[in-house]
Amino acid sequence: MPLSTRYRGRFAPTPSGPLHFGSLVAALGSYLDARAAGGQWLVRIEDIDPPRCPEGAASTLLRQLETFGLEWDEAIMYQHTRGDAYQQALDQLIQLGLAYPCSCSRKQWQAFDIYPGWCREGVCEPDKPLAWRLRSDRGERPIRWQDRLFGEQQFDPAELGDVVLKRKDGLWAYQLAVVVDDAEQHITDVVRGLDLLDNTPWQRQLQSALQLPQPRYLHLPLIVTTEGQKLSKQNLAPALAEDERGVRQQLFQALAALDQAPPKDLAFEPPATQLHWAIAHWSVARLNPTPHRLIPLLPPAGD
Ligand SMILES: [Zn+2]
Repeated sequence: MPLSTRYRGRFAPTPSGPLHFGSLVAALGSYLDARAAGGQWLVRIEDIDPPRCPEGAASTLLRQLETFGLEWDEAIMYQHTRGDAYQQALDQLIQLGLAYPCSCSRKQWQAFDIYPGWCREGVCEPDKPLAWRLRSDRGERPIRWQDRLFGEQQFDPAELGDVVLKRKDGLWAYQLAVVVDDAEQHITDVVRGLDLLDNTPWQRQLQSALQLPQPRYLHLPLIVTTEGQKLSKQNLAPALAEDERGVRQQLFQALAALDQAPPKDLAFEPPATQLHWAIAHWSVARLNPTPHRLIPLLPPAGD
């Protein structure tokens, strides 16, 4: 295969805290899909919002990936270094008439489900701080694509709203950054949690507008608590194990959460052995196209 079509996947965590079981499942799914395809697997640190990223969190999560045997290729990309590339992309969108400045505050449009586009034809209050928004109503609509697990997808981006590309405080927003960086890293396959499914239409719209290649998408089921909540730092998702036994169990549980039906004995094997088995047996067809998996009961720390 020519180099340009060789599988390249990525895991792109926000370093707002350590990884939890839900992020381990997302990392593992993307890692296995890349390795089973004989491809490369990259790590990108999404540190575009420094106030949300405590000092040292990025190195903590990289150490966690290593502990679970998830070794990446190439140098890590840090989004805080990528401002010039994002600005270039924004300038291109402005030239195309696809981005506009907006002075509105959320308080002003709180009666609406999405931002109603008041500044589309001219900014309402030019002396106020300005954000930049995407003209979601221009370009191909609806956006259609085939998710590798959840099948045919169709969204009208205008119904999702004019998403912010650059914030009033000058920080870059996720949608533009992820599209520019997926292209820069020649990512062919995006494998990530289902919570990002409805972000994909904006990203595909941006890829089209900027004439960037469109990766394939595989959205993975989310790990939820017994109350049906997505695991997150906010609802105190248990931290990943650090001790040898806990690491082996959690890796095994992550494989089970991905419906790979690992043989029971594998739970006692070190990460390298588990991953070796999992790469050889990885099957997207085995994944159930249902949105949620319950968090397994984790052994208490130190047990
Ligand atoms: Zn506005």
